[in-house]
Amino acid sequence: MASLFVLVYPDDRLRIKATPVLQFDETLKQEVLDLFETMYQDHGVGLAATQVNIHKRIFVMDCSDDQSTPICFINPEIVYSEGETQSDEGCLSFPGVYAKVPRASKIRVKYLTDQGEQQEREFENLECMCVQHEIDHLNGITFVDHLSNLKRVRLLKKLQKQQRQTL
Ligand SMILES: [Zn+2]
Repeated sequence: MASLFVLVYPDDRLRIKATPVLQFDETLKQEVLDLFETMYQDHGVGLAATQVNIHKRIFVMDCSDDQSTPICFINPEIVYSEGETQSDEGCLSFPGVYAKVPRASKIRVKYLTDQGEQQEREFENLECMCVQHEIDHLNGITFVDHLSNLKRVRLLKKLQKQQRQTL
């Protein structure tokens, strides 16, 4: 396993739309393992392949406190959504900044496992927000795209300031 380099805003590669996975082979299994390792190392609850410059429709998620509920999603698709909610979101590609983003409060998702098995599951709360956030990444969309211009400018200024401080 290897921990991968996470692309950070304003990297243009975060805008690339990922393509569906067609081959369920060893390469895919390794990519999934690397995504999990990178996510856990960086203390994220979700990580999309796009964020590590792999432009395939894959993301991993684990919203538990003890790494006990890992789920890998291949070619995910939201087939049903309802309600509306807002909670603070962060992103490993926007280190240190958070914003409230409007999201559906309940979704049903169709996806494949890394073995190519079809799954369908409902998600609520943190997992629901996370799944929507990660599917956005696969479409080249980041959470700041959901903010008003004013809020986005403010958040990106804060991000720049933090990036300067960590240099
Ligand atoms: Zn993100």
